Amino acid sequence: MLIVQKYGGTSVGSIERIKAVAERVVSTIRQGNQVVVVVSAMSGETDKLIGLAKSVSSNPSDREMDVLLSSGERVTTALTAMAIASLGQRSIALTGRQAGIMTDNLHTKAKIEKISPEKIKKSLFEGYCVVLAGFQGITESGDVTTLGRGGSDLSAVAIAAAIKADVCEIYTDVDGVYTADPNIVPNARKLDRVTFEEMLEMASLGAKVLQTRSVEFAIKHNMPIIVRSSFNNNPGTLVTKEDKDMERVVVSGVAYDKNQAKLTVMKVPDKPGIAAKLFSAIAGANINVDVIVQNVSSDGSSADISFTVPKADCNKALQFAEQAAKDLGAKGVAIRDDLAKISIVGVGMRTHSGVAAEMFDALAKHGVNILAISTSEIKISCLIEAKYTELAVRVLHEHFKLDLAN
Ligand code: ASP
Ligand code: MG
Repeated sequence: MLIVQKYGGTSVGSIERIKAVAERVVSTIRQGNQVVVVVSAMSGETDKLIGLAKSVSSNPSDREMDVLLSSGERVTTALTAMAIASLGQRSIALTGRQAGIMTDNLHTKAKIEKISPEKIKKSLFEGYCVVLAGFQGITESGDVTTLGRGGSDLSAVAIAAAIKADVCEIYTDVDGVYTADPNIVPNARKLDRVTFEEMLEMASLGAKVLQTRSVEFAIKHNMPIIVRSSFNNNPGTLVTKEDKDMERVVVSGVAYDKNQAKLTVMKVPDKPGIAAKLFSAIAGANINVDVIVQNVSSDGSSADISFTVPKADCNKALQFAEQAAKDLGAKGVAIRDDLAKISIVGVGMRTHSGVAAEMFDALAKHGVNILAISTSEIKISCLIEAKYTELAVRVLHEHFKLDLAN
């Protein structure tokens, strides 16, 4: 088999860990596989580099940030290749540039545009284990770029698709994808399989095992992913295309995100075009709006429009919303940043009714008030007070019996 193995920060977090990675890679090769390794920087390294940049400049340029940040992965790539070679396996370290990873020029959050995998393929053919630096690429004009935090997952999936690997293994410090955060729910269960769509929802709803963009990429290229631990030999979670068996599961997991702020534009005149004006102002500021609720007053003359944004964007969103409120003749903007979004995800929701009612009922029984709701085909999210997050996760996990395999 042709396998891409990606090792995250904790998996290469020390010399001992790097040696352990080398052992695993070499044993995979000795079982008759070809392996391309993608590594993250050592854990904490990227944050450390960001700290260094801030200590010399309050506003470092994104281009220089990328030159700096890409150095973390360069270190682990070389060390991992050396450790593999010292076990008697030919090995070659490649930076993003050397691996042919071309991106656009949006520094610090670049998108992969094209991969020219000739050098990777040639090295594999010659019997080398190829060790690639994750999280980085290069623009057409030769500048180094990085792919956004957690971007090594994306590097791994993109490389796997480019060389038509059989599978992309993502090694981390947990055993796979869980029904809920095991730190909150002690009897959370590791899932053997999860569909691409469920994984995408879970990742974007706050589950941290996989970067959201990497899952989008996997869907597009139908690249199966296995999330597993580099600290043991447990089989992990397979992220893959849906099949009949998987559809039977109504709820697969509970996710939460404490990083939500809610803005309410009060007493907006209720007439056509108002929401369009408000949200195009927010979108123009490059802020992602999530849950939206509109309440029209009983006499129908005005409405309150509430929406959520990531906490990090809330001051910027407030500025734009206040301006829009003025322009639209609204009364003003109120803000709350003590909220969390709690979600249940499962492909079986498409064919089962009444799941939403059950969720609301379970929360109500424990006195958790719901401030807003949003749904998609395979998820239901409720906005609640952040202080109830842990309670709500446990209640929903228990209500839907997620600790039991189905
Ligand atoms: N080192 C980068 C980060 O910490 C990329 C990654 O680990 O995936 O975000
Ligand atoms: Mg990661």
